[in-house]
Parts: sequence; C-alpha cells; structure tokens
Amino acid sequence: MTSNTRGDDWQSRQRERLFFTWSAQHDTRGFALSAGQGARFQVDGRDWLWDFGSQIYNLVAGHGHARIQERMIAQIRETPAAHPHALLPVRAEVGELLHRHTGLAKAFLTTGGSEAVENAIKISRLFTKREKIVTRLTSYHGATLAVLGVSGDPRREPFTASLGAPYYIEDSWPAREGTADRPSDWLESLQSLVQREGPETIAAIMLEGLTGVGGMQTPPRDFWPGVRALCDRHGIVLIDDEILSGCGRSGRWWAHQHWDVKPDIIVVGKGITSGYAPMAGAIVSQAIADYFDDELLCCGLTCFAHPVSCAAAVATLQVLEEERLVENAAQLGPVLHARLEALASRHPAVTELRGRGLMQGLVFNRSTQGLGPIAWKHGVSAPTTKDMLLLCPPLCLREAELHDALDRLDSALAAWSSGT
Ligand code: PMP
Repeated sequence: MTSNTRGDDWQSRQRERLFFTWSAQHDTRGFALSAGQGARFQVDGRDWLWDFGSQIYNLVAGHGHARIQERMIAQIRETPAAHPHALLPVRAEVGELLHRHTGLAKAFLTTGGSEAVENAIKISRLFTKREKIVTRLTSYHGATLAVLGVSGDPRREPFTASLGAPYYIEDSWPAREGTADRPSDWLESLQSLVQREGPETIAAIMLEGLTGVGGMQTPPRDFWPGVRALCDRHGIVLIDDEILSGCGRSGRWWAHQHWDVKPDIIVVGKGITSGYAPMAGAIVSQAIADYFDDELLCCGLTCFAHPVSCAAAVATLQVLEEERLVENAAQLGPVLHARLEALASRHPAVTELRGRGLMQGLVFNRSTQGLGPIAWKHGVSAPTTKDMLLLCPPLCLREAELHDALDRLDSALAAWSSGT
C-alpha cells in the first residue's frame, strides 16, 4: 500500500517514511503528540499524561513555554541562519551564560549530544597529545561510532569489530565504599587501569555527572574527588558528561557539584535548550581554551552555534534561573524519594531506589516488560530500561502534580503486579 492510498492518515505516512530510533520498526508505533503544557502532554487530541520522561530527558522547562518560543521566533525573524564565524548578539549571550553557570571558559556548540562528546574527546586528544579515553563500564555517552567506541553501553555490540579497544573502570554495584586504608572498588579499579596503561597515554577520563539510562548509580564517596586528584597528578583531562544529569535535573546545576569537584570539560545537551531546538556543547577550562589561541582547533560543523538554537538556550537558561527550577528540583527530590519509598514498601517487586533531584528510578527484581504501557494507561509516561522505571519529569513540576502522578503510578504498579 502506498501513502497516497491512505488519504490524510499522516500517522501511517510517517511510520512508512521515517524510522523510529533504537527499535525494530515493527516493535513500536509511536504516539501522536498533539499538545503540551508544563509537565503534561496530550496524545491523540484526547488523553493528558504526566511527562515523567521529559520527552527524552530534555524538556527541563516544560511543554509550551511561551518565553522560549517567543525568543526563538524573534531570532528566526532576525537572523535564522549564519556562518559559524558570524558574530551575533545571541551567540555572545549564550557564551556568557554558559560561562556563568559552569565557571568554565569557552564553548564549542554542536547540534547534538553525541557530537558534543566527540568534540570533547577530540579537544582532549589535541590538548594532551595522547589517545586513550577512560570511561565507566556502565556508561552511555552517545550513539555515533567514535563515542560507542569509548563507552560501555551494550548498544556498541553490533559494531565492536570496527571499534578500538575501550578502557573501562569496573563499577560493580552495589559499590564498596573506600576506607582510610583502601579506596573504593571503583577508584581502585581506575588506579590500576591508569597504572597498567601508563598515565602518559591517557588523554581523558570521561564520566557522566550522574549516570542516566545506565541506572542512576550514585558513585562511592571517594570516587569523584579521587578521579580529580588522579587527573591533576598526571595531566589527564576530566570530562564530565552532563547531557542528561545537567541543567538542574539532579537538584544542582551540574551533578558533579554533589561531590564538590571541578571538571576540565563539561559536556551539555538535552536540557540546555529544553529540547526546543537541537543544541549541545563542550565547555572547556581556561587552560584548554588558551591552548587553542595558537594551535589549530581541528573541529567544525555547519550548524555550529546555530542562531535559533542559541536563542532557545538563552531563553531556557533564563527560565531555569528566574523560575528557580533548579531549586524546585532540589526541593522536590526528597518528596519524590519519600513517595517512592512508600511505593516500594507496598510493591515487593521494587528492590531499590536510585538517583536524586528529579532524576530518580525504581529497580525491579524482574523485567519491566509491560510496565510502561500500563503506566501510560494510568496517565503517566515514564521510560523503562530492562529492570528500571526512570522518573525524570520537567523541572517545572509542582508538588501537587507530583503527588497526582505518583498516585497514578501506584495504581499502575498494582495493576502490573497483579497482571490486570
Ligand atoms: N551522553 C549522555 C549522558 C546521554 O544521556 C546522551 C543521550 N541520552 C548522550 C550523551 C547523547 O546525546 P544525543 O542523543 O543528543 O546525541
């Protein structure tokens, strides 16, 4: 059947002509997103759902934010397209806001997260003149080949034959905390890896601020400070991938702030434009920025710092600040945690709670198969992994909304457990 024979059945026409990501195409049908407001979206012009996935962990400011929309429209009218070297007020603004919120010096702005991670890798290799990139075994840093090559996510598997050797920190779970005499198992694994490979061969250690889709495991207390100390001792660049955990999601602007360390490069994405336009970036320290004053920054993109994306980022960062959304995530974090604890006590299939801020998850003692669609039927959209339900609502969520969503989730879990 061709699309012409289906008249205005645009849903089928899309299914026929565009892929769904990360799916065997017959396994997903997608959903008709017809409207959105704040922490909810509407499907098929009918049902409203609490958006506990923030679309794809990006919609920090919520759906239908007029201020972001207006700023983008103004930019479309003023200068919608520009050469990467073009000087524009909106580019100055986004650069300054990123500097103010990260404390780092200069940003390389890309169109997506994987690209930003790749550029962070390139920059650290150029800066150190070394090759190896160390990551955690439980890590996701993006979908492009170079990034799959260094990270641990199983989605690398179909391509392993063409990827180089990865260098993983063993990050067993639950982790063994460090003591006065012995570092935690994560730090011990990193220290022996660095010793084995030779610190002079390692360009960067790259960590997610707080692991997202890999399972939200909180690192042992000595891990981040230990990584920072090791990087300082050996001139290794510390890259913090805050694409998912950043822009306030964990209750701090950047998740690494929970451990009081400063990375050399912060990679931002997703929430930086609240998903209203594609943009991500690698923001680097003064020392790295200065290096490229006279050395070639061998990185480039047609849509570098796209003006409309910059406008979306400026407006999003202003909304995060002025509406105190990071503070809201910090305040609602313990409320969500308490609700999840109560839920866990009633549903024996829940074995663990993880995460912080508005980035939390439930771990189950069995596959989550079927749970997502049941939660959806009860009015909550929340992503699942093999054994987890992830709860990452927009940071504009209000407390009463959180309680309504959690009541619904409670009923959904009861229905799922009883198989009804
Ligand atoms: N790093 C992390 C931590 C992520 O969560 C993601 C996306 N889920 C990426 C990188 C890749 O970003 P993108 O999908 O925009 O390429």
